[in-house]
Amino acid sequence: MADSTELPDQPDERHFEIAQNAAERLARQLDGNGLKAEQVRLGRHETLVHELPGQMIVALKPDIATAELKGKTPRGEVLRTRDEVMARAEGDVEGYLADANVHAELQQEMDRDAGRGFGKPDYRQALQCARNEFSIVDKCSRCNGETTLDCNQCGHTGHVPCPQCNTVGTVQCPICYGTGQQDAPGGGKMDCKRCFGKRLVTCPNCQGQRQMRCLNCNGLGQVNCVDCGRSGYATHLFQVSYHAECGFQLERQFIPQEVQEVVDALGVRNIATEGHAEIFRMNPQIENNRIVFPFTAVLPTARADFQVAGKTYPATVAGLHSRLLEIEPMMDKLIKPGINALFKLSKGPMASEALIDAACRYKVIRFALSGLMGHSKRQIYARITKEYPAILTEKYAKATVQYSEVAMLAIAAAPRKRGFIIGAVIAGALDAGWYLGPLRAQAVAAMTAAGKAAQVPAADGAVWLAGFLATFFTIKVLAGRALKDLLPENVKNEQKQGLPPAGALGYWALPLTAAVWLALAFFAHPHPGWIDMILDKLHIHHG
Ligand SMILES: [Zn+2]
Ligand SMILES: [Zn+2]
Ligand SMILES: [Zn+2]
Ligand SMILES: [Zn+2]
Repeated sequence: MADSTELPDQPDERHFEIAQNAAERLARQLDGNGLKAEQVRLGRHETLVHELPGQMIVALKPDIATAELKGKTPRGEVLRTRDEVMARAEGDVEGYLADANVHAELQQEMDRDAGRGFGKPDYRQALQCARNEFSIVDKCSRCNGETTLDCNQCGHTGHVPCPQCNTVGTVQCPICYGTGQQDAPGGGKMDCKRCFGKRLVTCPNCQGQRQMRCLNCNGLGQVNCVDCGRSGYATHLFQVSYHAECGFQLERQFIPQEVQEVVDALGVRNIATEGHAEIFRMNPQIENNRIVFPFTAVLPTARADFQVAGKTYPATVAGLHSRLLEIEPMMDKLIKPGINALFKLSKGPMASEALIDAACRYKVIRFALSGLMGHSKRQIYARITKEYPAILTEKYAKATVQYSEVAMLAIAAAPRKRGFIIGAVIAGALDAGWYLGPLRAQAVAAMTAAGKAAQVPAADGAVWLAGFLATFFTIKVLAGRALKDLLPENVKNEQKQGLPPAGALGYWALPLTAAVWLALAFFAHPHPGWIDMILDKLHIHHG
């Protein structure tokens, strides 16, 4: 990827090598897939190098965050009104449009992109270097600049009514309980010594004053305004930051129709990110309150004739990776005999060596056969379509993978069956050893002693799982061994091998091992609790 900001006078040499490169790759792809490399040649060809203009258009927009500060504590420039702040925030855009720091920040972000910004979908970028603060200093709106507020507990009088005497000033006498009399020492009654028979005494709470000092304002009738910290002022802070709204446009009006078709086949974005073109980004200009970064993508295309086994295939070669477009999918016909052989293999019960040889003559089929040992069909299909784009259709790529698997299952059908039986015997032996031997009784006793009796069913389940896995892998191992013997050496060496799929018998192993396991659980001592539960649920009673 070029990093310069100037377009070279002459396109790089590699732009003119794309037809040759395409021919060499085509030869590599077809070699071993029904042809030899030397049967592929490049015929007449003509290469053109196109300059595709584009622009990244950037608008700057202010974002305003506000905060309230106590007192007269301005930050940044002090302005008078909110409207003035808004006008300044908008007005500063013009300066930032021409700011070299802003340009540098925008360029840095584009450089982080795989395509240097070419074809990048619309995006927003917060600008770190464009920030400003403004303040408006105002009277405190709560106290209106007075620094204090009327006490709301006493209605700014400094006094509150006495709650004990309810503003009467007297309360019932606590000695005679309001009767005015008490027992005389010699018997009979006498006037109360405390209230002298008046039944009431002065309120001890307010000493007869009927009201008390307000505790909230300490009797002052005013409290300090907390909103302004008793300063009488408030500062409204406006923190202005800017973000860039960036949008890329390919200037299609300057690109010929047939070149646009190539561009769309590759994808505008991919042209840059996948390196089909060289991308040049020039210095920015200011236009209509926008920053404009001009781009040029330098993209080679070639019209070329490929001679394949004497027949001519015209095609378009596009981009620095020599992508083939508009070419007949010639590989379909070439590998068809191999796919037919795979199909016949899947029909017959016996593996015919001639059919295997016929199928394995093709590189792509050998790749599928060996790849399916250890990889999924989807993975192998994806690898094949990536390896043979344009020259192999989706239909044939799918058939290659599909019939490779069916043929492989058919070739190894007998060993797979053997694996199923051996595996089932192993699973049965495992179950019998567990349920009928002393091992389970000992384990149950140990788990019960450890207070883990609830985990006994899990242990029983683990034994079944072990039996199932033993069956599943015995099928795979035996099938793998059989395939190793049958398939030619070059299949085995094609890639690192795993085990072939277990096929339908792998699924059948599931109910089979479960049935054996259940049957043996019935005879276990001590009897598994979960068996009784199941039987009870089914209303089956037993001894
Ligand atoms: Zn205030
Ligand atoms: Zn009294
Ligand atoms: Zn009182
Ligand atoms: Zn008060």
